[in-house]
Amino acid sequence: MKMIQAAPRKGEARQLRSFRLQRSRATLIRFLLLACCIVTSSAFGKTSPLAPAPDWGWLEGCNGTFSRAEFLQALDHIYAPEGASAGWVEVGESAVRIRTNGDTWVDVPFAESSTIAPGYKRYWRRASELGAAPAGKPLDGLRVAIDPGHLGGDWARMEERFFQLGNTPPVAEGDLTLAVARKLKSALEKYGAIVVLLRKNARPLTRERPKTLLPAAAAEIPTLNNPDKLNRLSELYFYRISEIRARAKLVNEKIRPDVVVCLHFNAEEWSEPQKPVFVPRNHLHALVNGCYGAKELESDDIRADMLSQLYSRVAEEALPLSEVVVETLAEATGLPPYTYFSKNVIRAGSSPYLYARNLLANRLYRAPTLFLEPYVMNSSPVWTRVQLGDYAGLKLVDGDWLPSLVTEYASGVAEGMARYYEQARPKTAK
Ligand SMILES: [Zn+2]
Repeated sequence: MKMIQAAPRKGEARQLRSFRLQRSRATLIRFLLLACCIVTSSAFGKTSPLAPAPDWGWLEGCNGTFSRAEFLQALDHIYAPEGASAGWVEVGESAVRIRTNGDTWVDVPFAESSTIAPGYKRYWRRASELGAAPAGKPLDGLRVAIDPGHLGGDWARMEERFFQLGNTPPVAEGDLTLAVARKLKSALEKYGAIVVLLRKNARPLTRERPKTLLPAAAAEIPTLNNPDKLNRLSELYFYRISEIRARAKLVNEKIRPDVVVCLHFNAEEWSEPQKPVFVPRNHLHALVNGCYGAKELESDDIRADMLSQLYSRVAEEALPLSEVVVETLAEATGLPPYTYFSKNVIRAGSSPYLYARNLLANRLYRAPTLFLEPYVMNSSPVWTRVQLGDYAGLKLVDGDWLPSLVTEYASGVAEGMARYYEQARPKTAK
C-alpha cells in the first residue's frame, strides 16, 4: 500500500492543545527519568526500582546448555554489545563466570561442542515444537498473549500518551492499542490461535496506585523532598513500572503463552511542550530484547533478567518471528523503517525495521515477545486516520483508499504471524 506523505498543516501547531507538560514540567520529567535509573543498594547488591532481589537458583539448570561460541555470539551481538557486561559476566575457556548478588560469582560450564544439553525449563513452545497445523490454520493451538501498551482512558494524560487538537477526538495511545488488540484477537483466532488480552479496558492490573507508591519513591531518592517531584516519581512508578510488572506476573505465572504481542504506537518529540507541533515523519520498527547497557547491568535483577533471556534461547524464536511480522506490517502500511541514533539500541537480524533494545516489558516476559512501534501519532496522516475512527471497508484518505488504522495494524500483524508459523511449523504431524 502506498505510503501517505505527511503534510503538516499550517495552524495545527498553534491549535494543537496538548496535555503534555509545560517546559518546566518537562525538565522535571527528565530529572525523574534519570532518577528512575537509580538503583537501590543493599548488602545483597543493587536492584532496580520495585524489583525484588533475584533468585539465581535457575542458573544451575544452565550448565552445559550453551557452547562457548554460541554464548559469545548471543552476548556480543544481542544482549551486551561492546563489552557492556564486563565485570559481571566473564567468559572463560570452559565456563562463564557470572557475578550474581554482590560479590558472589557462579561458574556455568559450557557444553562440549557436540553435546549441548536442553536449555533450562521454559513454558513457551518453539514453532518447531507445535506440530503440523491443519490447512488454513497456521496458528492452530498457538497460545498468544496480547499486551495493549499503556492504559489510556482516565490515565492517558498522566501517562503523557495523549493529545488533542481543539475539540476534535483526542489521540490516546492506550485507547488505540486496545482497539487494535481486540481486532487482532479475532484475526488470530480465525487462524486457530488461543488468544488472551492482558487488559480489556483502561483499568490497571496493578493494585498499586501513585499514592501507595509514594513511600517507595521517597525511599528510592531520600534527597527528593519536593512534593511535586515525589508525586511525579510515584506516578511513573505506577504506570511505567508497577503496571508492567503486574502484566509480566500474569503472563509468566498464569497465561504462559508461546508468544507475547506488545502493541504500541510511536510518537516523536514535540519541539516545545507548550506549543506542540506535528512532524512530517511517519515510520515503523519492532524491538526484540537486548542491548543492555553497562549501567543497567549493575542491577542484580536486570543482570538476572538478561541471562534468563539469553539462556532460554528466546531470541532464536523472537528474532525470526519479529522479522517476518515487521516486514509484513511494512508491506501493509507502506511505512519506512525508523532509524535510531541513540546508543541504547542495536540492529538485530537482517531487517532494517528490527532493533534490539532493553525495555521493561520485553525483558520481563519470559516468552518470545513481538514489540511493535508503527505510526507516529503526532504526524498529520496518522492524526487524520485516528479522527476517522474504526470502520469497515475502505475510505478515501488524502487521495488513497485505505482501511481504518486499527484494521490495517491488526491485519498486518495477524498476516505476519500466520506467515511466520506457516513456514516455521513442521509440515507433517509428528
Ligand atoms: Zn507506547
